[in-house]
Amino acid sequence: MPFLPDLCDLLGEHGVLTSPEDRAPYERDWRGLSNHPAMAVAFPKTASQVSDIVKLCVAQSIAIVPQGGNTSLVAGGVPIAGTPQLILSFNRMNTIRSLDLAADCIIAEAGVPLAAVQNAAADAGRLFPISFAADGSAQVGGAISTNAGGVQVLSYGNMRAQVLGLEVVLADGSIWHGLNALPKDNTGYDLKHLFIGAEGTLGLITAACLRLHPAPRAIATALVGTGSTENAMTLFQSVRRLAGPALTLCEFMTAEAIALGGTAPLKAPAYLLLEISALEEDAAPQALIERVLEKALEDGTALDAVIAQSARERESLMALRENIPEGELHAGGAVKHDISVPLSRMADMVAATQTLIAQNHPGCRLNIFGHLGDGNLHINIRPPEGRRLADLNKPAITDAIESLAVSLGGSFSAEHGIGQFRLSGMAAHKSPEALALMRRLKTAFDPACLFNPGKTIPPESNHD
Ligand SMILES: Cc1cc2nc3c(=O)[nH]c(=O)nc-3n(C[C@H](O)[C@H](O)[C@H](O)COP(=O)(O)OP(=O)(O)OC[C@H]3O[C@@H](n4cnc5c(N)ncnc54)[C@H](O)[C@@H]3O)c2cc1C
Repeated sequence: MPFLPDLCDLLGEHGVLTSPEDRAPYERDWRGLSNHPAMAVAFPKTASQVSDIVKLCVAQSIAIVPQGGNTSLVAGGVPIAGTPQLILSFNRMNTIRSLDLAADCIIAEAGVPLAAVQNAAADAGRLFPISFAADGSAQVGGAISTNAGGVQVLSYGNMRAQVLGLEVVLADGSIWHGLNALPKDNTGYDLKHLFIGAEGTLGLITAACLRLHPAPRAIATALVGTGSTENAMTLFQSVRRLAGPALTLCEFMTAEAIALGGTAPLKAPAYLLLEISALEEDAAPQALIERVLEKALEDGTALDAVIAQSARERESLMALRENIPEGELHAGGAVKHDISVPLSRMADMVAATQTLIAQNHPGCRLNIFGHLGDGNLHINIRPPEGRRLADLNKPAITDAIESLAVSLGGSFSAEHGIGQFRLSGMAAHKSPEALALMRRLKTAFDPACLFNPGKTIPPESNHD
């Protein structure tokens, strides 16, 4: 049976891309490290069209690679080598279906960019708190499928904490209508959680009901220079003790990291970007941050600090952090990691990494930044000056960093997921029991293994 003509009949002439030039941007991942051909890229507009595509693919044993904004840092949304695959793009499923202020929730289709959800919430006087450097491109379905975090997890939780309900197309083409808006619903297994963070391997998310929060009326933002990771941790703990959940952001950057994001207005070996938010305008988060910083400067925990005095100054401080991933890419890229460790082991993790790289990979440059308050650091290794990324022994470096995090009680993948690039970590660190359960779930949800093959679960031979 001819697959592509049937697909074109289903979606219309503009709903399918088949030429190599048209497919190219959808086949390559954000970092340009994975690039394999797909048969075509399909652009459904409704859940029922997604369902029809799945039925067509099942009939002809064609795998489906769901793709949102294609900003995955682990090449989760692009094809693998050697299997006939269709990229199913959610770009045209980009409608906000409803916004319910009484229930404080919004129903958005999978292809709505996160920034559009943030804007719709802000226009209604609410906050949608999932925010990170790629949120202009990353979409609702992609962010749910990776359980994305970002800079405000500290106070609001990650994507999982925002999802109230989901609409999902299953592997037989049926549609699970789970779009409820109930904060409480203990009616057996909470199925939505199986699709969150599943990276498109169990079902295709077509819409989500997301939680909205009260919008802060006053925000104080500060960039603080500190002498060490220990001091940064001490400062974080003292702000946290004083501000509690009002501390909505706490990002860590070494001097090397911040230099990739721009020019910092002060010089220090390490930096914290802090933000305290308040629901009332007269709650004066600025005074609170000043009080903490005064004490920290006195006792030496902080070396220097600037507090943003306007929205524009706040934006430029935030840009220093947000520009780091792009800056790193333009500077030649890095062997990237996304580890988390218990907060009590953060300083140990940084110190042990510095020793490890100095001893085993001399000359390599360390780019360490991330969500300190969540125990999540991006520990990226750049080649020595004048050398290329390809010269590095990537598997050895990654195994060493990920094993170090795991040995300190941490995780080898805190927020970016597994995709293609973290499969070796799964094989090395996930327990046989956990992998066996994941394989049983996969078989139960997708017996023909047509949803995003080659992602998330390592091949069985890699384990034991
Ligand atoms: C500059 C930059 C900064 C970033 N910062 C952060 C950060 O601070 N915190 C963080 O957590 N992440 C961050 N990320 C990575 C983040 O995980 C992704 O950007 C985002 O969550 C993926 O959304 P997407 O729409 O681009 O999905 P894609 O990259 O297209 O896909 C991601 C995964 O979801 C699957 N998928 C996509 N849509 C669907 C769907 N509708 N149904 C089922 N499966 C689907 C794909 O198959 C793939 O496995 C960053 C990325 C970049 C490029």
